[in-house]
Formats: sequence, structure tokens, C-alpha cells
Amino acid sequence: MKEILQDKSMEELAALVAAAGEKPFRARQLMEGLTQGKKLSEIPVSAALRARLTEAFEEEPVRILETLTARDGTKKFLFALADGNIVEGVLMKYKYGNTQCVSTQVGCRMGCRFCASTLNGLVRNLTAGEILGQVLAVNRAEGGTKKERAVTNIVLMGSGEPFDNYENVVRFLRNVTAEEGLGVSARNISLSTCGLVPQMRRFAEEGIPLNLTVSLHAVTDEERARTMPVANAYKIADILDACACYFQKTGRRYIFEYSLIAGENSDLAHAAALAHLLKGRPCHVNLIRLNAVKERHLLAADEKNAQAFLKELVSRGISATLRRSMGSDIGGACGQLRVKYIEAKKTGAADAGFPKSCGADFGEEEPQA
Ligand code: SAH
Repeated sequence: MKEILQDKSMEELAALVAAAGEKPFRARQLMEGLTQGKKLSEIPVSAALRARLTEAFEEEPVRILETLTARDGTKKFLFALADGNIVEGVLMKYKYGNTQCVSTQVGCRMGCRFCASTLNGLVRNLTAGEILGQVLAVNRAEGGTKKERAVTNIVLMGSGEPFDNYENVVRFLRNVTAEEGLGVSARNISLSTCGLVPQMRRFAEEGIPLNLTVSLHAVTDEERARTMPVANAYKIADILDACACYFQKTGRRYIFEYSLIAGENSDLAHAAALAHLLKGRPCHVNLIRLNAVKERHLLAADEKNAQAFLKELVSRGISATLRRSMGSDIGGACGQLRVKYIEAKKTGAADAGFPKSCGADFGEEEPQA
């Protein structure tokens, strides 16, 4: 693979242009073109610079391979990377704007038992430019510009564990929030982690005040370890301390993801224990009913159970919401689309790549103030 120009910051583009003996305005031209989601060959530059760029950099590091639109307007995208790998993303339409869910890795090595992204392990990390490229491609495809963005909010909740690809993710966050780039406010970005404590603590020092989201899914370390192997490495108490540290540094309240799994974590006793654990903390709980994944043997808690769980939490003074399901008719939560697509390719099935309905939900919390 060649280098990826979308990895670069404004300063790095300026240095590159200067090294090529070109005038400084060429760097701004490049950044403008990239921000519009253009391919390399579509950006107006001098012939000499074009020759240099074409030799060293990918023409189109992230290309939309397929788009599916659900009845509620939710769109799912399959992206092709320059080396042939595939990642997926979702665009959810809300009253306040459009939220894009991006992937940070091809596959994942965290091994959560309910998640499709990790079924075949980690293939590789995405570069910063490949994460940004997903946003640029969708913003362009949806008719957005830098001023009038079609993508207003970003969640790092696609395939991959963002903090297992720390440097590239932080570089992406700096570039996507930069004024010269798309200029998305950190407040409109949510990063979800399975709770890698050292990286959470390190991230608190980066000065990026986004919505830090932690996948909790259990109330004790023992129960958590049943579905999340990462619980063997990091304790809930240490995760809570790292969250408090993030709040102290940024003033941003944090969010917990809690997927309701039948017979596993969804009793009212669990709700009471969760409320006790989080009482008095500046946090919010996002409940979601599990999206049952074909390859996994876990089932979703039913709607009635989910509502009762929510009520129990709220009555105990915890700020909580139950995510509404979006795009369920086109399916594909966290890696399901990619897995399906690769399977279909293997078996040669022409259009079997997408499930018509696999009961998958993908919702997202209301924006945080
Ligand atoms: N690696 C990050 C981001 C992953 S996906 C993390 O672990 O937080 C975003 C959220 O979806 C996480 O909370 C994850 O635990 C959850 N998730 C994954 N598969 C799911 C499924 N089948 N049903 C419900 N939630 C799921």
C-alpha cells in the first residue's frame, strides 16, 4: 500500500508541499480538496506536484463499495480499503443532525462474546486517514460540504477497539476536529471503549473533550468476564476511576453502554446493582437490547424487560435511556455486514452479502450537552 494523504495534518501537508518546492497555497488547496472527499486526481495541483503525489500516495484510500438504505433513512455503508480489506459504517438520521458510526480497525481482538466484529480476530489497524476517509466519503456522497456538513456527529462504535489503535485514533480525532479540516467539534464525537484503563487515563491528558463511552454490560467483574474477556485484565473499579479522571480533566460527563442480554445481565437486581455502582457519578447509561448475532448463542432481553430495567435505573436516580432501534430492516450491527459480505464472496453468492432482516439494531444516544 502507498501512503495515505488523508493521514496528514495541515502542518504536514505544508511541509510536504514545501519539500516539493511548491508555493504554500498548494497545501491549502490540497487540504480543501481532501476535506471535500475528493480523490487525489480530482484535486487541482501543478503537474509536478501531481506526479510526486501520485507516486507516493493512494488515489482513493476509502471507497464506498455498497450503500443500503433502511425505511427510517438509516444508511449502511461497506467501504473498500486500498489493500482490499473491507470495513463498514452507518449513518443515522436524527432531528438534530446525522450521526456517522465509523470503524477503527479491520476486525477486533477483544473477543466480546456478543459481538460480530471480533469473530475472525484482528486483521489490522486502520490509519487515521482511513478512519477520516469513511467520514469524507459519506459526507461527499450525502451532498455535504465543509460548511454544510451532511455528517454532523461521529461515533467511534463500528468495528474495532479505538484504544487498541490509540495513536491512529488520536491523530484522526485531531485532524477531524482541526479548523482547516472538517472542523467537527469534539462535543459531537463519541468514542466507545471496552475499558482499556491505561489508554483511558492517557486519553484524559490529550485535551480532547469528547463523549467518552465505556462498554460495561455487567455489574461485577466476574459476570463481566463471562461475556468480555477484557474484564480479566481490567477491573470495573479501575474503569470508574479512569472515567472520573476524564471528567476531572475535561468536565465532560461519561456514558456507559449496557446491552441487555436475556438471563445474563438484565434482572431488576442487576439494575439495582448498576444504580448502586454509578450513584452520584456524572454519567449517563445507554441501554440497548442485545442484537442477537447468528454466530453467538446469546439472546436479547425482551422489550418489557428492557423497559422495566430502565424504569428501575431511573427510579434510583440514574440518568438513563433505552436506545431506539434504527435501520433494523437492513441489519448489521458491529461487524455483521462485513462478515456477511466476506462469507458471500467465499461462497460466490451474488447478492447474499446483506441480510434482509437479522434483527440488528444500531442506535445512538441523544447528543450530550
Ligand atoms: N470496541 C468498542 C466499540 C465497539 S461497538 C467498545 O467495545 O466499546 C459499540 C458498542 O456496541 C459497544 O458497547 C459494544 O459492546 C456493543 N455491541 C457489540 N455487539 C453488540 C451486539 N450484538 N448487541 C448489542 N451491542 C453490541
